[in-house]
Amino acid sequence: MSSYLDPSRLAGIGMTSARTRERLVQRLTDQGIADLRVLDRIRQVPRHLFVDEALGSRAYEDTALPIGFGQTISQPYIVARMTEALLAGGALRKVLEIGTGCGYQTAVLAPLVGEVYSVERIASLLGRARRNLRELRIRNVHCRHDDGALGWPARAPFDGILVAAAPAAVPPALFEQLDVGGRLVAPVGPDGRQELIRYTKGEHRVHRESLGPVQFVPMLSGLQR
Ligand code: SAH
Repeated sequence: MSSYLDPSRLAGIGMTSARTRERLVQRLTDQGIADLRVLDRIRQVPRHLFVDEALGSRAYEDTALPIGFGQTISQPYIVARMTEALLAGGALRKVLEIGTGCGYQTAVLAPLVGEVYSVERIASLLGRARRNLRELRIRNVHCRHDDGALGWPARAPFDGILVAAAPAAVPPALFEQLDVGGRLVAPVGPDGRQELIRYTKGEHRVHRESLGPVQFVPMLSGLQR
């Protein structure tokens, strides 16, 4: 009889979880994610820690999952796509993230850039994100409970901005806080007709490029406990 602590059983559990994560990485590769740094983060970040225990078995499926307060943890493909789009074009020292949620996107991004400044309007979610990031020993993230439409003026300018909730149009403060040469990736538009857009700020104008249709929760104003 093998006991529960039999090393071969533990190895078995590890193998299954490594296989499950590898399947997710393969799926994202098949869908066109090519940046190996991003794929490696998807492989490394334990997404099951970011969702409710009851949803743990679904953590490595390529779907958004509920995290409470009517919000969702972003779908891995979308997290990978946004991170890749933000990184393409050169190293980033300072990134502003709007919509920390439970911190999964933040955990994928943080080791690939200098510093992350992340803003979330729901305090309870921000508390959870802080705990998750601390547990993973990710230390280059600064969190703020505020309305992300205002950006984080005291820490501007940023050379990258990633928006994880969809506004009808990108708030002007975010373009103001983007450095020249910087990139901003955001889902834009009303529910059912959102597009993922990458903006690049030039000396005189902002270049706009569509990365395809997406489905995000809406950007909301005001704060929530
Ligand atoms: N990327 C996150 C989850 C994104 S869900 C993750 O991986 O878990 C979008 C998040 O944006 C939600 O947590 C929502 O509360 C937040 N949000 C919506 N409007 C916001 C605003 N104006 N300012 C800051 N955060 C906002």
